[in-house]
Amino acid sequence: MQKRSMFNLDYSYLSLPNKFYQLVNPALFSKPQTVLLNEVLLKELTIPFTNKEDLISFLLKNKGDDRTSSFAQAYAGHQFGNFTTLGDGRAIVIGEYNTPNNKRFDIQLKGSGRTLYSRGGDGKATLKAMLREYLISEAMHHLNVTTSRSLLVAKTGELVQREKLHDGAVLARLMKSHIRIGTFEYARHMGTTEDLKALTEYTINRLYPEIKNEENPALSLLKKVRSVQIDLVVNWMRIGFIHGVMNTDNVSISGETFDYGPCAFMNVYNPTTVFSSIDTNGRYAFGNQPNSIKWNIARFADALLPIIHPEPATALQLAQACIDEFEPIWYEKYYEMMLLKLGVQKKAPELYSLVDELLTLMLNLKLDYTNTFLALTNNTGSEVEKMAEPEFKIWLEKWKNTIKNSGGIKQAKKCMQESNPAFIPRNHLVEEALDAATNGNFNRIEKLLVVLSNPYHYQENLNHFTVPPPTVFENEYATYCGT
Ligand code: AMP
Ligand code: MG
Repeated sequence: MQKRSMFNLDYSYLSLPNKFYQLVNPALFSKPQTVLLNEVLLKELTIPFTNKEDLISFLLKNKGDDRTSSFAQAYAGHQFGNFTTLGDGRAIVIGEYNTPNNKRFDIQLKGSGRTLYSRGGDGKATLKAMLREYLISEAMHHLNVTTSRSLLVAKTGELVQREKLHDGAVLARLMKSHIRIGTFEYARHMGTTEDLKALTEYTINRLYPEIKNEENPALSLLKKVRSVQIDLVVNWMRIGFIHGVMNTDNVSISGETFDYGPCAFMNVYNPTTVFSSIDTNGRYAFGNQPNSIKWNIARFADALLPIIHPEPATALQLAQACIDEFEPIWYEKYYEMMLLKLGVQKKAPELYSLVDELLTLMLNLKLDYTNTFLALTNNTGSEVEKMAEPEFKIWLEKWKNTIKNSGGIKQAKKCMQESNPAFIPRNHLVEEALDAATNGNFNRIEKLLVVLSNPYHYQENLNHFTVPPPTVFENEYATYCGT
């Protein structure tokens, strides 16, 4: 594949049959203005650049560079249960960057103009939506959740029409790969078995080379994705994250969280919590995320069937067995994580009820999810007093006895501090910061990014970042896809 200057970008994706992509140039913006730049990430990835201006013009202005290999990816997907063909309607991969220690990342621009897959859309993005993605994805990274990363947000100088005119922006984001379950659904339904084979082989080579010589690589890939997605969604449950739009086109094969459109964080614990304005049936509610990911993995299995086994009945049997194993694996990993939040470091099914009883108390007493664990960990925050309720005291005694019998308080505390963040992107703080930034004041978003870069270290002077929003805000809060 041809290489391009500066990052030495590569284009391995273009080795796939050309129905998997459209070669397309990102829009050119004459005066892009960078408003957030992730210098820490630039250093981490050892992205070479002599000065910021060169980097920005390389990414956004196409200065003197060959852009003929940039591409938009074709895919399909189940959106709220309905199959549809899609594709990058407003995103373009400008190339793949290889770090000096040979880690490959797609560099993708989001909001950079129309593609073959834009359908009725304008291919553009608003400043507010791109700042939101930058802020939440970076917060997720520091919360130790696998995620796409954000490199920069730049105002394009254009206005974008939504319900009113907004400042337009571009986000540069990085992912190990943007291949998603929907890419396989596209291969299965819009391509031939050869296309599906080519995609599977490419994906395994790129993301999971360790399984390429296994007896049934397609089945191994299915199990791998089941495993990384279970780990990912368990991790979301740990921090109260609600993705909001777990359509199969938004589920990465690499196990990275991505597409931060209508996502939000739960405050008061309630598994039915949903903020997305279009999720009227609560399909992607907090407590439904395990069901949703299981359903999505089943769609992945469907897509892989012809290459799992040439005999359809055998293929189905092998795939079904993989789906049937989902629940036992999920429960083991989920309770293991929840017990770590309680400072218990052993796999102990007899202790699962301790978790369930706490969640029931949190639901009945309308306790803040993050702050309940903060109170148990550091005896601080909004929920400390509420734990004096008689029914909570009974649970507390049980928990303290469990800790005594399993490693002691010192060890438990350390483990709880690593599992329970003090600072999450509280929805009201995110909105306040975004509103200020879209009005030209970036102080709040910059401050929030700093606080959220160290979420497990409670600091008294930052206490107001732990305060849940007023109930009115919580009841009226709604998030939106795309925009
Ligand atoms: P999402 O819900 O953000 O994953 O988007 C679903 C689909 O809509 C994807 O194929 C996007 O590329 C496409 N899309 C979202 N917004 C736009 C837009 N403004 N212009 C074109 N396509 C879009
Ligand atoms: Mg998407």
